[in-house]
Amino acid sequence: MTLGAAAAALAPHRLRVLGGLHPGPEDGLPDRIATLLLIGPEPVGFWAHVRATPEFADGRPDPLDRWSRRTIGRAACALGGKAYFPFGGPPWHPFIGWAKRSGQAWESPVGLLVHAEAGLMVSYRGAIGLTAAVDLPAAAARPCDGCAGQPCRAACPVGALTPARYDVPACRTFVRGPEGGDCRDLGCAVRRACPLSQSWGRDPAQSAFHMAAFARG
Ligand code: SF4
Ligand code: SF4
Repeated sequence: MTLGAAAAALAPHRLRVLGGLHPGPEDGLPDRIATLLLIGPEPVGFWAHVRATPEFADGRPDPLDRWSRRTIGRAACALGGKAYFPFGGPPWHPFIGWAKRSGQAWESPVGLLVHAEAGLMVSYRGAIGLTAAVDLPAAAARPCDGCAGQPCRAACPVGALTPARYDVPACRTFVRGPEGGDCRDLGCAVRRACPLSQSWGRDPAQSAFHMAAFARG
C-alpha cells in the first residue's frame, strides 16, 4: 500500500489525503491500525461533483454526511481498511487531535485548525485506517509563524471570533441578520481572510451550505 494508491482510490470522488499519521496509544485506535489517512474535499470540483450525487437529490437530511459515509466507506473497503467519520457519534473520534498529529495542520491564532494547503478552509470528511505502515510526507512548517499581519485575528466584523474568544451566539445572530450576507453566502470572513484559504479556491457555495446549517442551529 502506498499513498499514491490511496489517492487514486479517492480522486474519482474529488477527495484527497490531507494528512496522515502512524497512530500511537494516545490516538484511540486499535493496535492493528498502522496508518491513519485524513480525507477531505478537493478545493476545485468537489462541490459540483457532490451536488450531483443521489444523496443530494433524495430530499433526506444530512446529504453530505451520508455521501461521505457511503463514498469513504467504500474506498476504505477497497483499500482493505476501516473508515472513521467526524460525525454520527458517539463514539466521537478525535479528528482535531489527529489533524494536529499529522504534521499538516495546527491551531491558528483564532483557535480554528489551519492546514498547510487549505488554510482555515480545511475540513475532513472522514479518515481511513490501514493495517499497512504507509510512508507519509514530512511535517510541514506552521504557516502562521510566517504570516504577515495574521489577518485572521481581526477579520470578524462583529468581533465574535478573535484570539480571545469564539462567541457562538453573537456569530449566529450576525449570520442570520441583514448584515450577515457575506458570511452566509461566501463563508466566515475569518476563514476567508487567511491567505492560504484564498489560494485554496473552495467553491463559495460549499461554504454557504455549511453556513446555512450553522444558521439553522
Ligand atoms: S491568516 Fe495567517 S495567522 Fe491566520 S490562520 Fe492563516 S496563516 Fe495562520
Ligand atoms: S461567520 Fe461571520 S460573524 Fe461568525 S465568526 Fe465568521 S466572520 Fe464572524
